[in-house]
Amino acid sequence: MAAQNTGDNDECPFCLIVQSQNATEILMSDDELLCFRDVKPGAGHHYLVITKTHISNCKTLRSEHIPTVERMAKMGRNVLEKNKVRDLTDIRLGFHVPPFSSVPHLHLHALAPASKMNESSQRRYGQGSHWFITVEEALSQLRARGRIK
Ligand SMILES: [Zn+2]
Ligand SMILES: [Zn+2]
Repeated sequence: MAAQNTGDNDECPFCLIVQSQNATEILMSDDELLCFRDVKPGAGHHYLVITKTHISNCKTLRSEHIPTVERMAKMGRNVLEKNKVRDLTDIRLGFHVPPFSSVPHLHLHALAPASKMNESSQRRYGQGSHWFITVEEALSQLRARGRIK
């Protein structure tokens, strides 16, 4: 179910971005991650951080992915800072919970300013959204699962 191919899932739009077959402006990257703008911004700033490896979604993450998720969060914060977001407390960093993820390839949403998001963005990305899990929540779930094992 959780394919672990390296950006070679032809059906997946984000794997195509990893292969640079799509004309996407890459804002940041490292050996493991890529960052670009969300095509349908839900806030003044809205970026996506994806893994270069195809990971389906936040439910398929395991405790060994903790360092990856931490790096995704760091890149999300960095790209907001780089784009002059001054208040890093007024941001949303997190994942959509399946089946509410539009693209079935793990992507971290980084949004700012969170307090200025409109109603439909609040429903999608805001506090109390059942469709959205913050990166801190995702990490604490992964750490808890790691301890059980
Ligand atoms: Zn993919
Ligand atoms: Zn999403």
